[in-house]
Amino acid sequence: MGIIVKKEVVDGVLVPECPADGDDMENRPGVSDYQKFRGKCKELSLALIKENPTWTLVRGHYVCPVWNSFEEHWWVVDEQGTVHDPSARQFPSNGNGTYIPFDGVCTCAECGEVFEEGSPGSVLAGNYTLCSNQCALRLVGLA
Ligand SMILES: [Zn+2]
Repeated sequence: MGIIVKKEVVDGVLVPECPADGDDMENRPGVSDYQKFRGKCKELSLALIKENPTWTLVRGHYVCPVWNSFEEHWWVVDEQGTVHDPSARQFPSNGNGTYIPFDGVCTCAECGEVFEEGSPGSVLAGNYTLCSNQCALRLVGLA
């Protein structure tokens, strides 16, 4: 185990500083799993599918009851429909929240129009989906 020398806040969550290289990541305290698994959900899910080729990759949102948040996320389901989430430990609720598959329908963050993901003219800006450039500009106050 690494020695925690200082703490920092990531997205409002207090996490210990990354331990030195060579530390056994699997045995680190729960809270630092945030750093190990954050942003790796797709990568880790694909690795799981490589080991279990009959399982399916799912993209959607994870509702974390501890953070009370709606997180963009990737996970895997097996033939029985059971969720296998190799990066669940990035969330303090550790996979005990709700998994909501994304159905490909977006709602414009500016005007509320509903459209298919990837529709011509639609814009992805950070966490926002927008139906048009016009709405993207309006969102940031430029139109
Ligand atoms: Zn719009």
